[in-house]
Parts: sequence; C-alpha cells; structure tokens
Amino acid sequence: MSQSRLASCIPLPLDNKALSNVVEKAKDWALMHGVGMRDKAHFSKDTIQIAPFVLLPSPFPRTEFTKAVDLQPVLNELMHKVSHDDEFLEKTLQNALEVDDFTAKLYNIWIKVREEGITQSLSLGLFRSDYLMQQPDSNRIKQVEFNTVAASFGAITSYLPTMFRYILRQLGHGELIKNMPENRALSGLCSGIIEAYDMFGVPSAVVLFVVEEVSYNICDQRFHEFEISEKRPDIMIYRKTLNEIHEEAELNDKKQLVIEGRPVAVVYYRSGYEPAQYPSQKEWDARLRVERSSAIKCPSIHYQLAGTKKVQQALAAPGALERFVAEGELRARVRDIFTGLYSLDFDDSGERAVEMAIADAERFVLKPQREGGGNNLYGADVKEALLRMRHSRERAAYILMERILPPLISGYVVRPNAAVPPSLCDLVSELGIFGVIIGSKEKIYSNRQVGHMLRTKLADANEGGVAAGLGALDSPYLLDL
Ligand code: ADP
Ligand code: MG
Repeated sequence: MSQSRLASCIPLPLDNKALSNVVEKAKDWALMHGVGMRDKAHFSKDTIQIAPFVLLPSPFPRTEFTKAVDLQPVLNELMHKVSHDDEFLEKTLQNALEVDDFTAKLYNIWIKVREEGITQSLSLGLFRSDYLMQQPDSNRIKQVEFNTVAASFGAITSYLPTMFRYILRQLGHGELIKNMPENRALSGLCSGIIEAYDMFGVPSAVVLFVVEEVSYNICDQRFHEFEISEKRPDIMIYRKTLNEIHEEAELNDKKQLVIEGRPVAVVYYRSGYEPAQYPSQKEWDARLRVERSSAIKCPSIHYQLAGTKKVQQALAAPGALERFVAEGELRARVRDIFTGLYSLDFDDSGERAVEMAIADAERFVLKPQREGGGNNLYGADVKEALLRMRHSRERAAYILMERILPPLISGYVVRPNAAVPPSLCDLVSELGIFGVIIGSKEKIYSNRQVGHMLRTKLADANEGGVAAGLGALDSPYLLDL
C-alpha cells in the first residue's frame, strides 16, 4: 500500500542557498539555547553539540493532537490505578518474570517493600504517552507505549516552538507561527517535582536525580535543575548515580533517605530503566534502599512495573480496561487508541499469535520488556525470533504488537557534523504527551497534562530514539484537515 502524505507547513523543497543559510542560523540558535547533547564519539564535559532536529515543524492533525492532550489525565489515572492493583500486576507479569531476569529483579523489590510495609504511600509520576498516526485509519493516533520512568525530552522540546518561530520568520513565513502550540512541558514537569517536594514537608530536604555514569542527554536533565532552582531557590538538587547512592546514602531511624546529612524528599530517576544501568549488585541494593525510604519516588517501583510492555498488552485484552475505567465514553476513547496487542504466553491465544506473526511478520513488532530503544524486532527478525523461540518459555518475555503505519512527511533533518544543505527526506513523526500525577492508593492529589514532544525519524527507520541518534527533535505544526 502506498503511504499517504501530510502537507508540509511551507512549500518544499527550498532552494539550496536559502536552505544552507537558514540551517546555519538554526544550528546556532539550537546551540545557544541548549538544543544539544554531548558528543558520544568525543565526549567532553566542556562541550555540547546540536541535538538532531528537523528544520521545520512537522504537520500533525489538530484533532488528533487535541485528542491525545485531552486523554492524558485519563491515562495518568489508569496507570496509577493499575500500579496499585497488586493482583492485576502479579498476574500480568507472572510469566514474563520467569524468563526475564531484569523484570524479575524489579518485581522482587516491589514484593520486598510490600512485605516490609510501604514507608511512603505517595508516588510521583512524570509520564509520557507516545503515539503514531495510523494512516490507513484516517491518521488516527494509536498508542506506541506509555512511559512511566525517565520519560525524556520534555525540557529541550519546550524550547522548540521558539526555535521554529525564528526559523519560519527567517524564511518569510512568520504568519504561520499561530499554528504551533506552546509547549510548557519543562515547567509542568518541574511543577510536579516541586509539588511532591512540598508534600514531603521537610524544609531541609533535597531532591535527588538518579543519573547515568555519563549523561549524554545533559541539556534535557539540567534544564529541570535550572527551572526548579529558578522557581524555588530553597530546593537543592543532587545528581547521583546508583553506585554513588550505594556509597553515600543511608536510611535513618525514620526511614528517611539521607545524603550528606540531608533527607531526600523526591527521587527522580533519569537512569535505572535498563539492565546495563545495574552493572552489579550494588546498584540493585541502592535501588532497594531508595524504595524502602520515605522519599517520594518518581517513579516508585510499582509505577515502573505498570509501565512494562506486558502491562500495556494486558490492558488491551478483552475485559481488562473494564477493571479500571468506568463504562462509557471515556473507556471507548481509551480503547480507541489501542492497536492490536497480543500475549505470547503458552496458551491458545499465545499459539494463535505466534502463528499469525510467523505467517505475516511485516505486520508486527516483537517487543521485550525493555525501555530505552533499540530492543524491538521488526519484519524478518520477528519471524526468525518466533521460529527460534516457539517452543521455549523465553517467548513469554515478549509481546507482539501490530505495526502502525504512519503517514509520510517531507522535511529536512539537521544533524551534527552532517553535510549542509541537508537533502529533502521522507519522514514520520511520533507524538509524546507528558502528564504529571501525584497520589497514593487511596487518593490522587494532582493529575494533569503538562506538555508534549514530537520526534521525527526517517520513514524507513524502524525506531526513532533521539538520544540513540536515530530520531530528530520536532514540534507539531497543527493542521485543520
Ligand atoms: P522503547 O521503550 O524502547 O522506547 P517503544 O515501544 O517506544 O520502546 O518502541 C521504540 C520505537 O519503535 C518507537 O518509538 C517507534 O518508533 C517504534 N515502534 C514501536 N512500536 C511500534 C509499532 N507498533 N508500530 C510501528 N513502530 C513502532
Ligand atoms: Mg519508546
């Protein structure tokens, strides 16, 4: 089937001279406003280079954008409820645990802190729900996944509308900026951290960011620190790796997590979502210590478990949404964003899913219980993996998902160290909507949508992670179709 195409915000291609000229301006704008990342090949703490971005904001249907924005509080609440439904989480994750060591280790921490008695009943969620448009279905949005841990790029993308306004003016199209929604993700996400800090209610307390050994995506993390410091000069932020937490943090008799003599009010994980971030038992011990403490975790361990692919698949199964969302229009709206999701457990439906995917592998994506990009299988690899795992319990660690076919967009990607002018490419965009939630099992205190991000990749690339170097930062240009 030929892919449909959404109209770009201005006629393309641009002539080479104008294009080179505006790309140079845009790169400088990006560098000077922190649309940047550290260079993986030549790492230095003294330099950042531009993060990949698209030169022009990509078109996105206004109705679908609004739909995703309006749905975010509903999805926040859904995931909050799922994460507090012990029976549902246990049942859903059971088979995957037996074959997936990483999920099992997270799960065991959850069991342990429940057995000991939960010290902090409140959780902070800085969530992001991701969508692709499904082009054979009138470009309606379909959920790719729901991120409950370390959802990134809310900070940098908050600056992109301003960058695109500058670029559009340079190209003589200043009148178009009215079609670009403002993005207050950075401010909104930080407001969640501040609110949780105030609920903790200890004036000497600090906020702890859990970070990787090396942070390439440094701008996106530091902007949160700068924003919080500006809004609340009284709040100190520490950045520590799990290893440093193991060495430096302890629990006092009130179960406060204490670092350098100060209790920690909020722990915000920007690491800890993939196995490589726990190279030894020390990191796991540190995670357990944090989880045992009175600090408000973002995410708490049950939020992280609720964000697994397995839970996403289980929620799409018949009867599951009924458990969490009252009957009526809301439930129908949530169901409408789900695409085909299938368990690969050893039962009749699992068998049928395996058969179906082997017969028509191009229609599917095979996903393990992993975050951070680069883990999924596509096309021929789906078939090969399923043929290999068909009779092995290993297959229960994966879910099968229908492949979403988004419409094409024409555009230019600006990358560090790439030739100028860039060539016109076929691209596809993935929308992310950010949400903040704070609550306990009994009560939700805050729940709101706070902003968005758009990531755009080459149409023939399977995945579009920006930090992985595949995708480019973007911001929607809303179309009234
Ligand atoms: P991760 O947790 O690694 O980010 P995702 O489920 O978000 O895993 O998948 C990574 C990327 O793969 C997505 O950003 C998207 O580009 C692509 N992808 C994932 N699921 C699908 C799908 N069902 N159809 C098409 N592309 C998909
Ligand atoms: Mg993702």
